[in-house]
Amino acid sequence: MPIRPENRRRYPVDWPEISLHIRTVRAGGRCECRGECGRGTHDGRCPNRNGAPAYGTGSQVVLTVAHLDHTPENCDPGNLRAMCQGCHLHYDREHHRQTAAATRRAALEDAGQQPLFLEPALDECEPEWQPRRRPVEDVPGPDTWPGAA
Ligand SMILES: [Zn+2]
Ligand SMILES: [Zn+2]
Repeated sequence: MPIRPENRRRYPVDWPEISLHIRTVRAGGRCECRGECGRGTHDGRCPNRNGAPAYGTGSQVVLTVAHLDHTPENCDPGNLRAMCQGCHLHYDREHHRQTAAATRRAALEDAGQQPLFLEPALDECEPEWQPRRRPVEDVPGPDTWPGAA
């Protein structure tokens, strides 16, 4: 989701205005994801609001705008979704490349998506959603099952 330097020129010059309009006027500051992200942690529309603590993690929500087809040139409103960083990162996962936080921050700011409060914690939301595995030694063995001698 952060705009990579090599992609920056693919965005229209008025992208900051487009992005702002989507996030504020259309989305009302709330994540518009209705499950497109595929992370399966919210039913219906994602409750995350810009600047508020994200559900599950408590890290501050930074609303961004995702291109559903991953094509920056396609700024048709139907191709755009205001998304919190958790939804956006998950949605873009296969496109996501680990880059230095400073690079991301610069890319976000250049795109007019500067955080309104603190710097975005773009990676903090991820680990929460890893499946939790029970350690094998916690699983009761057959001798503790009902009916075992
Ligand atoms: Zn969301
Ligand atoms: Zn979502």
